[in-house]
Amino acid sequence: MWDYEVDVVIVGLGCAGSAAALTAFDAGAKVLVLEKNAEGGGNTRYSGGSMRLYTDVIKSADYIEHLCEGTTERDVIETFIEEASKNPDWMKGLGAEIASRHLPKKYPTSATVAYPNTPGSEGMGPRVQVKGMTSSAGVEMWGVLARQVAQKQIPVLYSTPVRQLLRDKDEGVTGVVAATTEKEIRIKARRAVILTCGGFEYDPLMHLNYFGHRYFALGNPGNTGDGIRLAAELGADLWHMSACAATLSFKFPEFEFGIRQFIPSPGFIFVDQLGKRYMDETGTDTHLMWAPTSYIDTKTLQKTRMPSYVIVDEDTRTRGPLAETGRGKVSDVYQWSPDNTAEIRKGWIKAANTVAELATQLGMQPDALSTTVAQYNLQCVGGYDPEFGRAPDTLVPLGRPPYYAVEVWPCLYNTQGGPKRNARAQILDVRGQPIKRLYSAGELGSLWHRNYPGAGNLSEALAFGRIAARNAVAEAPVRG
Ligand SMILES: Cc1cc2nc3c(=O)[nH]c(=O)nc-3n(C[C@H](O)[C@H](O)[C@H](O)COP(=O)(O)OP(=O)(O)OC[C@H]3O[C@@H](n4cnc5c(N)ncnc54)[C@H](O)[C@@H]3O)c2cc1C
Repeated sequence: MWDYEVDVVIVGLGCAGSAAALTAFDAGAKVLVLEKNAEGGGNTRYSGGSMRLYTDVIKSADYIEHLCEGTTERDVIETFIEEASKNPDWMKGLGAEIASRHLPKKYPTSATVAYPNTPGSEGMGPRVQVKGMTSSAGVEMWGVLARQVAQKQIPVLYSTPVRQLLRDKDEGVTGVVAATTEKEIRIKARRAVILTCGGFEYDPLMHLNYFGHRYFALGNPGNTGDGIRLAAELGADLWHMSACAATLSFKFPEFEFGIRQFIPSPGFIFVDQLGKRYMDETGTDTHLMWAPTSYIDTKTLQKTRMPSYVIVDEDTRTRGPLAETGRGKVSDVYQWSPDNTAEIRKGWIKAANTVAELATQLGMQPDALSTTVAQYNLQCVGGYDPEFGRAPDTLVPLGRPPYYAVEVWPCLYNTQGGPKRNARAQILDVRGQPIKRLYSAGELGSLWHRNYPGAGNLSEALAFGRIAARNAVAEAPVRG
């Protein structure tokens, strides 16, 4: 009947899966990890690798509770903060060196805490990351976790997506069905199954259903919402399905994933398809940039901010690459040119000698964009942006031609939604009862809701990965 029999089956090998696998293994359990891709790392590998420190449990819990707007129970939040506070020491125990977060700051952005006016924000600590030889803290973090999984010889079946959970009416979840390249296999989980298979960044239909719009993504194409369907089939309640962390970035037809914009000077604006500004471009937290783009014109039903455009002048263009290609999925395949000329030649960046000509290329009314740029430049002289409150030291005019434009779309760091979990990392059914022997961790059914403050997903993945594993190992073995 069974191709494998183990204590704990772990579905997906990213940050949460490896934390769960290492913890269950150290507790003496026989573990098997199933990973859909030919290699592990998931979104974790492509991430910025920053984790949050929490200096005060109660105050940080107040802060997160406010951000979650009552959707996440207080005990889940407090358990998270207490466990996540152990992350740096736990990572050090695996051989990592922990350093302050390195922030490549090209213009003033939001401070350490994303939403400083939210009650409890003073309880939030700084961000830290794994230090290493590469410039990507996500690669370094994943390197530490992957090395430990390999050194402990924890078995991983790659290119083996889990297709179904198996449930006995008395015992609960007793195993999984997965697909290797050759055949379907059945794996018995004597104690529990832990779902750590990420979000739905690459399921466009789910974006339309849950966000109301099509988004693109910066990370792992294997994250297609499988865990949500697996858990829903067993009656799991879903939460935070409309929540995500997404920034405004580039998407070109050559790649299925987005490329992070990283404008090298504050001399830029975002405009919609009518040529109008609509946000504080330099003061909006990167994870929340999706929010103003959700706008729909109620008369025409047009989504006039998808795509939007970033507009820069010659000074900004010559200051450095407009994109960051050192991390995110693009890091595997494309290096942006230092002066953006290769991307102008490809047609990714549109160029024109006047703002009006640029507008025509973008299909806008020339006057509309010219007026917007003229108004913005005037505000730069006065150092005051009355409509959007952009910080005076970021009000740098668009001066010297040529002028340039690139399409920008909301691009997902990650989604937050999925099966609801409790403080023990058990997946809950629609009546609020744990589905027996089924656990989850990571961005699949994350505790975060829409007001995401940054550096919380990796912290949660590590913390709930360990919590899920401890509780899974403590389950009595299934009978028979
Ligand atoms: C560019 C970028 C920057 C980011 N920066 C940060 C940051 O600095 N700090 C932060 O906290 N967060 C950051 N994030 C978000 C963070 O990386 C993720 O939320 C986190 O890595 C999620 O970890 P995970 O283990 O839950 O999922 P993942 O690391 O995505 O792992 C899930 C794994 O499950 C596999 N899988 C999927 N379906 C199946 C299946 N059916 N069967 C088996 N396996 C399956 C996937 O292939 C994948 O390997 C960033 C994300 C991106 C893309």
